[in-house]
Amino acid sequence: MYESYSGYRLLTRLIVYFLIFGVIGIIFQEVILLLFIGAIGILVWNYRQLSRLNYWLWVDRRLTPPQGSGTWEGVFNGIYRLQGKNRRRIGQLAALLARFRQGAEALPDAAVVLDSELSILWCNKLAQLNLGLVWPQDNGQRIDNLIRHPDFIAYLRKANFGDPLELASPVSEQRLLEIRLISYGDRQLLLIARDITRIRNLEGMRKEFVANVSHELKTPLTVIQGYLEMMQETMPADDFNQRSLSLMSQQSERMKSMVEQLLVLSKIEDATEIDLQNTVNIKALLTSLEEEAQALARGEYTVTFDSDLDVEPHGNELQLRSACINLISNAIRYTEPGGSVHVSWKKVPTGAEFSVTDTGLGIEPQHIARLTERFYRVDDARSRQTGGTGLGLSIVKHALSHHHSELKVESERGKGSRFSFVIPQHLIELKH
Ligand code: ADP
Repeated sequence: MYESYSGYRLLTRLIVYFLIFGVIGIIFQEVILLLFIGAIGILVWNYRQLSRLNYWLWVDRRLTPPQGSGTWEGVFNGIYRLQGKNRRRIGQLAALLARFRQGAEALPDAAVVLDSELSILWCNKLAQLNLGLVWPQDNGQRIDNLIRHPDFIAYLRKANFGDPLELASPVSEQRLLEIRLISYGDRQLLLIARDITRIRNLEGMRKEFVANVSHELKTPLTVIQGYLEMMQETMPADDFNQRSLSLMSQQSERMKSMVEQLLVLSKIEDATEIDLQNTVNIKALLTSLEEEAQALARGEYTVTFDSDLDVEPHGNELQLRSACINLISNAIRYTEPGGSVHVSWKKVPTGAEFSVTDTGLGIEPQHIARLTERFYRVDDARSRQTGGTGLGLSIVKHALSHHHSELKVESERGKGSRFSFVIPQHLIELKH
């Protein structure tokens, strides 16, 4: 097609056209006049084609172009082809967009697309249901003008979207949402809100159940232990009786410490709102820890303390105490008699560090990540034999999380372990 409108052909046509006028001019001896008439003719013809094209592009609604002739036929057809191509591409894009939207609508979570100014570009139906957005009326509105919860505004300002935010739904206080912001593309943001009401309710029920069962088990256990003690004193001291009674009291003792640990764990789990303004008396805490450590060591271990008493943490004394004593008791229980345990509390660049280092059994690397799971034990028999419940490190983990801290474990099988945590700078007070 293009060939017939090539520059060479057009030029040939133009030359032939003017040649005809030139020849007629020669015949009538009016060359200039006829060439002039020819030029005017070609100009008028071209203007007419141009105005038809203009009319078709701007006024006429027909899809097909007007019938052009000569050179202009190629122009009309070319534009027609381009328009057709564009229409097809727009159709394909619209179909793709519709498929994308259907996909986003099928998401089980509320989704909102925001631009770099936090204005809403698009949201799905669940976002309208759970976040109270109205589409398309809210198109272009800033999200912080529509969801005005202070926690949400603070989360947006912080601009650190690593952790999700839990927020009551703006539509219903009873519904709990987990909000995540994901940045993508050219500073755009995707807000995903998941309804976690059911999960939280179930978690609450689980915690309540464990706390209730542990509490209810306490009294029967005390009664059983009391009678066992009485029987041990009064029963005839034959071998079988004594063996069964001592086994029974051993096991009931284990059960008692498990129930107690479960109660401590649920109390710590529940107490999320701890007073972080409260200063812990570190001297009293470390002194009592040292006394308790010496009592647990029964003179069979070398227990040393190295403490900087000028560094005081903020937080809950009972929870910190629980965390520390669990680490110390583990160090002693998982070290053979004759070994040593070193406890240290000192200032570090990021805050203050509490650490317990032992020369005990050590832990193989594959177990380390799972140590803080409830009832996770590396060596079941050893844990049972030393009176372990498998709950100690879970307690430590929860207590530390309330103090913005995490447990760090370094260990080598056969050489020993170092359990430590750092209380961050903002929860530390230096006395001098
Ligand atoms: P347990 O009551 O069984 O000691 P914990 O939650 O306190 O439960 O600890 C989980 C497991 O981690 C223990 O069973 C033990 O195998 C391992 N562990 C904890 N502390 C030490 C340590 N200092 N040295 C070696 N192993 C340890």
